[in-house]
Amino acid sequence: MSISYVLVEQLDGRPEPVTLELITAARALGDVVAVVVGEPGAGVNLAAELGNWGAAQVVSAEVSGASNRLILPAVDALHILAANNPGPIVIAATASGNEIAGRLAARLASGVLTDVVGINPDRTAQQSIFGDTIQVSAAVGGASPLYTLRPGALDGVAVPATGELATIEIPGATAKDVTITSFTPSTQSDRPELPQAKVVIAGGRGVGSEENFRSIVEPLADALGGAVGATRDAVDLGYYPGEYQVGQTGVTVSPDLYIGLGISGAIQHTSGMQTAKKVIVINNDEDAPIFQIADLGVVGDLFDIAPALIEEINKRK
Ligand code: FAD
Repeated sequence: MSISYVLVEQLDGRPEPVTLELITAARALGDVVAVVVGEPGAGVNLAAELGNWGAAQVVSAEVSGASNRLILPAVDALHILAANNPGPIVIAATASGNEIAGRLAARLASGVLTDVVGINPDRTAQQSIFGDTIQVSAAVGGASPLYTLRPGALDGVAVPATGELATIEIPGATAKDVTITSFTPSTQSDRPELPQAKVVIAGGRGVGSEENFRSIVEPLADALGGAVGATRDAVDLGYYPGEYQVGQTGVTVSPDLYIGLGISGAIQHTSGMQTAKKVIVINNDEDAPIFQIADLGVVGDLFDIAPALIEEINKRK
């Protein structure tokens, strides 16, 4: 049986939900080897859960000091494994995931497909291009083709496997390493991280001010346990920080539910959210293009509708 590798995304010693999506996608390519990169013992606590999610093998790739280093420990770990026993590699399509994939592609002389939304047993993958208006099937060469999978693009399905544990040592830091000197989470709240969030409440220029983001967009996100997003215009006007920008030059999101408030629906914004499973928009211009991709469109003033919605949701909790 052929094998495939998955780079495990973890936070505070727990696998992140996107890891289940990676395992689900990689299962089409062969028995899944889930690779946990970190300090000595990093994979031991995760092995049972990753086995339950569908990993045939869990590799704990260890070196002291790994948690203070960026990128290279993961590149080294997957390079060691795939150079020894080639197979497709599936990584989350995050900024660091794409960089890891690029470096591995060069080291392993294999191609890389970024931001894929599905992977097939014949090693082709679906990509959603030109602002998500066209789906293509693509393939790359090499014994260890790399895929970065868009978080939220598919539903993770756990199919328990053996989860047998193995350990490898990865090289220590070199002069080329980038190390972490301090860490400030981008989300200074209990809200989920934007790229992985199941619910995204996005605000546009129509929200009107930073205060309105705090008093309308954030409370609606909190009522639904979601993350806040923003258009570039809202970011440029200083209504919300740039790391929350959704779209072509921002973050791509694929939540179960996206609610857009005061957003016109420019292609540069919708290209970053139109794989959302349900899209609800509130806009006072009935001709706004965003209505064309909405499952539910409300023509009206967001300052009337959003507070009423928050009140109603909170009443039902
Ligand atoms: P607008 O287009 O001004 O729309 C505001 C909407 O709010 C209007 O439809 C209006 O009817 C509605 N509104 C106003 N008041 C109310 C109210 N009281 N109640 C209800 N509705 C109301 N944009 C992104 O978002 N992400 C990107 O990554 C991105 N990348 C870009 C890259 C390039 C190279 C370029 C050229 C542009 C990019 N843009 C991006 C900008 C994009 O083209 C649009 O300008 C932007 O998305 C528009 O933001 P908006 O919808 O908030 O503003």
